[in-house]
Amino acid sequence: MLNLVRILGMLAFLVLGASNDTGTRKYSIRKVIIDAGHGGHDPGALGKFSKEKDITLQIALECGRLIRKHMQDVEVIYTRQQDTFVTLHNRAKIANKSNVDVFISIHCNANPQGPTAHGTETYTMGMHTSKYNLEVAKRENAVILMEDNYQKNYQGFDPKLPESHILLSLYQNAYDYNSLKLAQNIQHQLKNRVGRVSRGVKQAGLLVLWKTTAPSVLVEVGFLTNPQEEKYLNSKLGQVHIASGIFRAFRDYKNELERNS
Ligand SMILES: [Zn+2]
Repeated sequence: MLNLVRILGMLAFLVLGASNDTGTRKYSIRKVIIDAGHGGHDPGALGKFSKEKDITLQIALECGRLIRKHMQDVEVIYTRQQDTFVTLHNRAKIANKSNVDVFISIHCNANPQGPTAHGTETYTMGMHTSKYNLEVAKRENAVILMEDNYQKNYQGFDPKLPESHILLSLYQNAYDYNSLKLAQNIQHQLKNRVGRVSRGVKQAGLLVLWKTTAPSVLVEVGFLTNPQEEKYLNSKLGQVHIASGIFRAFRDYKNELERNS
């Protein structure tokens, strides 16, 4: 019984995170990491005239700028601020070392089947419920093939094997509920305030979210294989609108959680 109480206590500590380290201090969200997908020799998805890595960087920087401007009690950290290659495991490591309260990864989508697919979707870690979600995870996870020693760094995970993705998608973490809340806020903002088509909140086994010890989401902000969306995502206005949607979703998430704590 005592052991059970001890385990429950530890779980509560893990769920509330280090921000509540005294046990009496009010829970607050003080640090966020914005992760611009891909970079350097990894271009990510390719459109007709643009690369995912360039768009994700612009949106990430704008999102961080808005948070710094409007939420002065929040520290913003980036996994990259330039066109550099950062391994997926290092992205999680930067987040965990900095003890962040939220991890937001920004990506662009691609549909090899054709140019009609469009809209935004936000992923949390979990079991994929469709072949499509699995394909997105496979594509995003395949970037580790560009890393040295990927099998060592990802405990034998092989992005070429379907069973690797299935095993990874079974992974659950203590932050599922909050990750889901943030993902819903992002989709709500992108649909209702930014006017993008919402493809919903989805789950898949994504390596970049696997090891983070904070609520974590991955946003696919649109399809580079869709000519209209590629144009929109490359425009300054489009980038600022998407970034402001993510910023407002994060702000609402922080307010809701702190109010309910
Ligand atoms: Zn990506």
